[in-house]
Amino acid sequence: MQLSSLKGKTALVTGSTSGIGLGIAKALAEQGINILFNGFGDLEEIKAIQASAEQDFQIKTAYHNADMSKPDEIAAMMQFAETTFGGVDIVVNNAGIQYVANIEDFPVEKWDAIIAINLTSGFHTTRLALPYMKKKNWGRIINIASVHGLVASAQKSAYVAAKHGLVGLTKTTALETAHTGITCNAICPGWVLTPLVQKQVDARAEKDHLSNDEAKKALVSEKQPSGEFVTPEQLGALAVFFCSEAASQIRGVAWNMDGGWVAQ
Ligand code: NAD
Repeated sequence: MQLSSLKGKTALVTGSTSGIGLGIAKALAEQGINILFNGFGDLEEIKAIQASAEQDFQIKTAYHNADMSKPDEIAAMMQFAETTFGGVDIVVNNAGIQYVANIEDFPVEKWDAIIAINLTSGFHTTRLALPYMKKKNWGRIINIASVHGLVASAQKSAYVAAKHGLVGLTKTTALETAHTGITCNAICPGWVLTPLVQKQVDARAEKDHLSNDEAKKALVSEKQPSGEFVTPEQLGALAVFFCSEAASQIRGVAWNMDGGWVAQ
């Protein structure tokens, strides 16, 4: 279903060249929302993603390769958004990385990178997007946190700290915009089978001498009672709902879509 109120708006989706970000970008594009893509990857493949979104949904797209760990590159991307689209109405802070190790073995540079990309980048896009949103008195900021923004797992100290931080940033942003038409919410996915998770499947397969399918099943079932992965399409549909008028009084929530993970 297309929501007419969203057609012609512009969304920045960070880390939208792969996985969840790409799923959310496609779902927003389907609503007639122009998309500013961001993330790493093969330039020809990114151009093909843009071309198919433009053709399928009659929207405008652009791409900026800002490294989300670098504040000056984020600022350059927000400037680019202003000159290309006039500004961004919707920001989806999705870019993220993972690293798994016990705290005493956790490489300091990995900790710094995870905090910068998974948490601090959301502060920068938010602070730079808010003036335009306030001028329009409309905006949507959607932070892709994780169930790890609500509960912890061993060996994921930096990720869990960053995602809990992102949920905190979400609440503060929601309070500071509470009297405006801008909302800020977080989405907290459980396991989604993307390249980020495939690396953990591969590690599990190697450690326990399992096939790829056995390792996937073992990983999901351990935490997620449904035994099923969440999909990028399902997360895209939730992001579209957060952008709708029906969701205009949903403010500062951390909404899990996790096959029952945190209900336990
Ligand atoms: P992914 O690896 O498929 O995609 C990550 C995206 O971020 C890619 O587009 C990549 O190019 C981009 N990216 C990485 N580092 C970047 C940087 N420095 N600058 C710019 N872009 C960068 O991973 P995914 O699983 O789709 O994860 C997307 C988000 O969802 C992350 O924030 C992740 O923490 C979160 N998440 C994922 C899961 C899961 O099970 N896959 C669960 C909960 C939350």
